[in-house]
Amino acid sequence: MEFKKRSIYQPEHDLLRDELTRFLQTEVIPKLDDWESQGHADRGIWNKLGQLGAMSCMVEEKYGGTGSDMIAAAVIYEEIGRCGVAGLGGIGVHDIVSYYLQNNATEALKEKWLPLASTGEALFGVAMTEPAAGSDLRGVKTTAELFFENVRVPASNVIGEENRGLNLLMQELPFERLLIGLVALGGAKGAYAETVKYVQDRKAFGQSVASFQNTRYKLAELQTEIEVGEAFTDRCVAAHAQGELTTEQASMCKLWLTEMQDRVIDACLQLHGGYGYMWEYPIAKFYADSRVQRIYGGTSEIMKELISRSPSLDS
Ligand SMILES: Cc1cc2nc3c(=O)[nH]c(=O)nc-3n(C[C@H](O)[C@H](O)[C@H](O)COP(=O)(O)OP(=O)(O)OC[C@H]3O[C@@H](n4cnc5c(N)ncnc54)[C@H](O)[C@@H]3O)c2cc1C
Repeated sequence: MEFKKRSIYQPEHDLLRDELTRFLQTEVIPKLDDWESQGHADRGIWNKLGQLGAMSCMVEEKYGGTGSDMIAAAVIYEEIGRCGVAGLGGIGVHDIVSYYLQNNATEALKEKWLPLASTGEALFGVAMTEPAAGSDLRGVKTTAELFFENVRVPASNVIGEENRGLNLLMQELPFERLLIGLVALGGAKGAYAETVKYVQDRKAFGQSVASFQNTRYKLAELQTEIEVGEAFTDRCVAAHAQGELTTEQASMCKLWLTEMQDRVIDACLQLHGGYGYMWEYPIAKFYADSRVQRIYGGTSEIMKELISRSPSLDS
């Protein structure tokens, strides 16, 4: 399916998309099976992504970043989803921490950590979830499953104001939800493209599976879902780039796009028949990567809760 020109993207974004796609096809996709067996990606891939300017790309140049905008970041997250390398979605978590630092840390902390984040020498994680507190962020009691016995954190390492941690923690959640929406959009597109190829090749009853009316109608439905999702995502990306994306809009983006991704990929897997259930086929991996998207970064139920708090729904 050829998507028409998207107005938020400029020629430089198209170049970035092409460069990143080539990189993922040559440096990542051939290694995915090995990484899966060993349980993690090779450490060096993060440095290579850093060289490409794909790590925390919105970090300002004075802190060693490329100073890109949200539109460039959107290209990166969507391509990760589309190329079926959702494991690299860890970039998203890493980036969120970089932007927490960029927006809230002292100059000394920014100068120390942001250049390392941009090259991939430092890898950041987020630990908001505990065994007894996931959806309920206010229920967080300790520091997730990390243990800091006898660790002294100097005052100079504190980010933001004392006792305002939870507010600060919630500041980047709209960005996190938008980026998950982008990975979802990419995932749906990648799975759709795989499926179109598959049904054209696969024969049943002496004809290609693509020629059945049911297949054509189903693909038409999926194409429509993806187009609608793309339009809404682009609108949310543009709003974020203008500093205007609200919690409700970001929640709608994550809710709708991840549910759409699941619907599309489930239908794509069905069109593969039994081969869709075989791990060797990319569609099976798209399916597995898709399912968790409705859970992390805030579940679909929590997204509905946030949207329902919108003033226009006040009873
Ligand atoms: C692959 C993966 C990667 C992750 N990465 C990270 C990470 O990097 N950092 C991090 O901090 N966390 C991470 N998480 C944790 C993730 O964010 C949580 O799993 C998620 O927020 C849900 O919390 P929970 O698992 O405790 O589910 P629970 O909160 O126990 O929810 C269980 C069920 O109850 C529903 N529910 C809960 N509260 C309500 C409510 N008020 N109304 C209606 N329904 C409700 C939920 O929607 C869900 O269906 C990751 C999780 C996974 C699976």
